[in-house]
Amino acid sequence: MRARALEVGSSSQWAESLALRPFGKGIKMESADQSNVSVEVQTLRTWIGECKPGRMVFFGGAGVSTESGIPDFRSPDGLYAQKYGDVPPEEMISRTFFDRNPQMFYEFYFDRMIARDALPNRAHRKLAELEAQGTLSAVVTQNIDGLHQLAGSKTVWELHGSVLRNYCMGCGAAYDLDAITELHEQASDGVPRCPKCGQIVKPDVVLYEEGLDSHVLEESIKAIRRADLLVIAGTSLAVYPAAGLIDYFQGDHVAIVNLAPTPRDRFANLCVAGKVGEVFDF
Ligand SMILES: [Zn+2]
Repeated sequence: MRARALEVGSSSQWAESLALRPFGKGIKMESADQSNVSVEVQTLRTWIGECKPGRMVFFGGAGVSTESGIPDFRSPDGLYAQKYGDVPPEEMISRTFFDRNPQMFYEFYFDRMIARDALPNRAHRKLAELEAQGTLSAVVTQNIDGLHQLAGSKTVWELHGSVLRNYCMGCGAAYDLDAITELHEQASDGVPRCPKCGQIVKPDVVLYEEGLDSHVLEESIKAIRRADLLVIAGTSLAVYPAAGLIDYFQGDHVAIVNLAPTPRDRFANLCVAGKVGEVFDF
């Protein structure tokens, strides 16, 4: 299961040497049209440009949506302790907590995890364009905001589900984000309940302690296995099993785009210390 290409391939030794340089010290290129772009960014764009049709896969995390104003639910602010006491954010969105305290779960969920006005950013738009052109075969994402689809992407494997889909735990009736928000606002305890059967309506989001959807997982692995170029972006690659998916890659080039170093940087052919939106702004 170990991917050979993750152990840096001979075809990209020069890129490997780039990846080994310290973060944040990109050499500025002197070319006419991309003068403000580091050599790492230019290399990645070249790889994307040269990628065979359907052979690029993008694997993204929270950093892809930062520019769209999606809040990071893991960074408690000053108000957090007042409102939620000592319960850490990760516990708040666990299945145990959901079952035991749906009222506080939904307060946290609508407060911290929903950004109704968020719009796709430069990265979402470029990825949709690359798919339309035929280069990109799939987006595999840890995000639950639905912004890739809003930008026009068609093949999006959402490892952690989506806030846009919600289902009644009793009868299975489907509710979109507007509908569940309305049910939340109408309920005296804030817990959205199905008007048809009275059971709780639950977001189609994978909570801690819950397994990933096996179909989504299989399709993500298939896409990654078939890819020549894998771009991993905006993720610290800390969350398993999602992060383990990249081990299935057997292609030529792995690039990691992230502001901070990740534990997998040494397996990549290229590391870009930058904002995802800037890197994909071309
Ligand atoms: Zn129902």
